[in-house]
Amino acid sequence: MQSQAQAVVIGGGVVGCSVLYHLTKAGWTDVVLLERSELTSGSTWHAAGGMHTINGDPNVAKLQQYTIELYSEIEELSEQSIGLHLTGGVFLAATNERFDWLKSMHAKGLYLGMDTEIISPKEAADIFPLLDPDKFVGAMSDPLEGHLDPSGTTWAYAKAAQKNGAVIHQQTRVMDLQQNQDGSWCVITEQGEIHTEHVVNAGGLWAREVGRMVGLELPVLAMEHMYLLTEDMPEVVAFNDSSGLEVPHCVDFDGELYLRQERKGMLMGTYEKACKPWSPKETPWDFPQELLPADIDRIAPSLEVGFEHFPAFQNAGIKQVINGPFTFAPDGNPLIGPIKGLRGYWCACGVMAGFSQGGGVGFALSNWMIEGDPGFDVWAMDVSRYGDWASLAYTNKKVQENYSRRFSIRFPNEELPAGRPLRTTPVYDRLLEAGAQMGEAYGLEQALWFAPTGVVDEFSWRRSTDFEHVAGEVNAVRAAVGMMEISSFAKYTIRGSGASDWLDRLLTCRLPAEGRMTLAPMLNYAGKLIGDFSLANLGDGEYFIAGSGLAENYHMRWFTQNLPEDGSVEIIARGAGLVGLSIAGPNSRELLQRMVDDDVSNQAFRFLDIRKLDVGMAPCLVGRVSFTGDLGYEMWMEPEFQRYVFDLIQSQGKDLGLRLFGSRALNSLRIEKNFGSWAREYRPVYGPYEAGMDRFIALKKDVDFIGKTGAAAEKEQGGKLRLRVFVVDAKDADAIGDEPIRYEGEVKGWVTSGGYAHASGVSVAMGYVAKEIADKQYGWSIDILGETLPATPQTEPLFDPSAERMRG
Ligand SMILES: Cc1cc2nc3c(=O)[nH]c(=O)nc-3n(C[C@H](O)[C@H](O)[C@H](O)COP(=O)(O)OP(=O)(O)OC[C@H]3O[C@@H](n4cnc5c(N)ncnc54)[C@H](O)[C@@H]3O)c2cc1C
Repeated sequence: MQSQAQAVVIGGGVVGCSVLYHLTKAGWTDVVLLERSELTSGSTWHAAGGMHTINGDPNVAKLQQYTIELYSEIEELSEQSIGLHLTGGVFLAATNERFDWLKSMHAKGLYLGMDTEIISPKEAADIFPLLDPDKFVGAMSDPLEGHLDPSGTTWAYAKAAQKNGAVIHQQTRVMDLQQNQDGSWCVITEQGEIHTEHVVNAGGLWAREVGRMVGLELPVLAMEHMYLLTEDMPEVVAFNDSSGLEVPHCVDFDGELYLRQERKGMLMGTYEKACKPWSPKETPWDFPQELLPADIDRIAPSLEVGFEHFPAFQNAGIKQVINGPFTFAPDGNPLIGPIKGLRGYWCACGVMAGFSQGGGVGFALSNWMIEGDPGFDVWAMDVSRYGDWASLAYTNKKVQENYSRRFSIRFPNEELPAGRPLRTTPVYDRLLEAGAQMGEAYGLEQALWFAPTGVVDEFSWRRSTDFEHVAGEVNAVRAAVGMMEISSFAKYTIRGSGASDWLDRLLTCRLPAEGRMTLAPMLNYAGKLIGDFSLANLGDGEYFIAGSGLAENYHMRWFTQNLPEDGSVEIIARGAGLVGLSIAGPNSRELLQRMVDDDVSNQAFRFLDIRKLDVGMAPCLVGRVSFTGDLGYEMWMEPEFQRYVFDLIQSQGKDLGLRLFGSRALNSLRIEKNFGSWAREYRPVYGPYEAGMDRFIALKKDVDFIGKTGAAAEKEQGGKLRLRVFVVDAKDADAIGDEPIRYEGEVKGWVTSGGYAHASGVSVAMGYVAKEIADKQYGWSIDILGETLPATPQTEPLFDPSAERMRG
């Protein structure tokens, strides 16, 4: 075995082999794959081999589309048959709610260029003859579906990579990983050591163990999964004979079943409610290539529905039940990318749909390793979306929830309960007492809205029970004053002699003067948006940044990667060690004045000023800024002061019309101000000019900030997209995100955020459209739940376009 390689991929399942192939395709040919047994000997060999493009996240769907389109390429290059059956498929809805969901999937597919179609149950039965149309209300067809031979496909990636120069060692287990002083790695195997710049954890069922070699506890859990194979079925043979076609793929969401033809019979699999984790603490190294015992009782409830929905199964003999384990992350999406502070260690784990996603994962990861950027929007798959709080026990609960809900609808207003509450702040109980309906972001509980006793969210695609109460919160902010907990923001302290220079290079804006704040976008090397922060200069070389809480680990990874090596800059993620409360609305100044000795008049405490103030007796950092677009203040404090400040605000604000508000009201407030938000309007696929952040891109500043060249080019060439805001003629449902935006009937963009702007009394959608038509005043419409609704572009914010409220 050689002693040196540019990159070492650990694991020869479909994912590791795809990573290996993509590295070689992009030009890294000095690459090695190490496999403890034989290729495919983890989850891969017993997979059902199904593949599809549909995914709730359009960016993941795009990578799935890429995977399927790649298959003919690797088959040709490797000369290895992958047994591809591109049969097409149908997705079935037995309820109106599910049919609404299918319509929303179809709508998303429109701007991704997918050829899905909404069809009737009768039309579905013409395509998939085994179903009883009376059991369904509607369906969606998709031509880009099918199945393949899992082993052939894995070998096709492997052989194609070998042709490009890669080396594969089977029967070579990686025992340990040691990082050298210079950041390179020593990969210790049963057959000797290899030195390399990059290691890829594609360990599949053993991903946790390969993580633990470097002190990482990856949030991954394997679940048992069963599918059955029938004897030959006359109905299948008859359809094959009469149509000349194979019985296509089928997903019956309400039966929680997936089906496809296998030889002259059928394969039926299920994600059963009574699911079972496999080897929850660690995966034995000697786990052989063998099946787990079948447990038909566990899947019996789903099979019963299956026999009803697909009557031909009632007479079919069961030939075999396959039960095998495969891994999931808490939200069911892969975990890919680099790890904060571990140079050259890459993850390609938790891929639960290796034959739909493996190609895309390999492509994105190889781009990332070679170019420094995945080249796609992989936010939904980025390993950094979980922090250290995602413990093994949390993962166990969440993965089971995800597995058992794999085919369940998640409504836009539905919060999932497993593994909660986990992270809470000191005012958590106070908020609950006030009727808070809680949601969770990055493991932290936050108030979504406040309900009167006995009222809870009724899950729906349409406006629901919260509507009038969120309206009350919004109106209190616009007319008087509201208080919101803002601890879920990420907070960072930056200090050290090099802090100013470092921030100047990292962020696109000019640094604020002492005691001042600014909006601060951050770009990657290609000049695309990877962050939007508020940056405050606290003086004495200390800075304070607040940004998206969801992206704390993501941003810390970038910050750490880009820190100077001389130790002149220190950055600390404050997490829940610094918590916050915000007050907003025309009476917020009066309220603040009642609680502090200092003069906080408009002249003495201007918009975007920040300073340390005692709020009552509690030392706080107070900034005059607010995401509501109204006069407002953010107060940051150590957790031990939060309840005190909360109670003080409550008592002092009573006669000023104070009301608590939650994140749903905040969304309603910010969309009528055209304020964008991270992971919605701001993502790594958009340029700062496309996103309308021109004012904060200081191309003229005398610093070569990261992404400056790309941003300058975007400015000159204009980019491809523009962020726009529309008022929609919505009826009883508002846009939520990912709906298609049409211009003169044709899909020309997509929604990033939406909702009802209660104060303005209109339904609003924000989204990206093609630049060439972005300034057209007429001809727009937006699809909501299958209906194309007229939309009017807003050239200026609906609320307070001159920003007098915020600044006055
Ligand atoms: C019953 C069943 C049905 C399924 N059906 C489908 C389906 O229809 N469609 C679909 O897309 N997916 C399906 N899947 C899921 C699919 O199998 C997985 O998504 C896929 O196999 C994951 O591949 P992987 O490469 O990440 O992991 P694995 O296949 O587990 O591969 C990891 C490899 O790494 C090796 N390894 C680990 N540690 C080391 C080490 N230290 N040194 C050397 N080598 C190491 C292992 O030996 C193994 O070969 C199914 C799974 C099951 C169980």
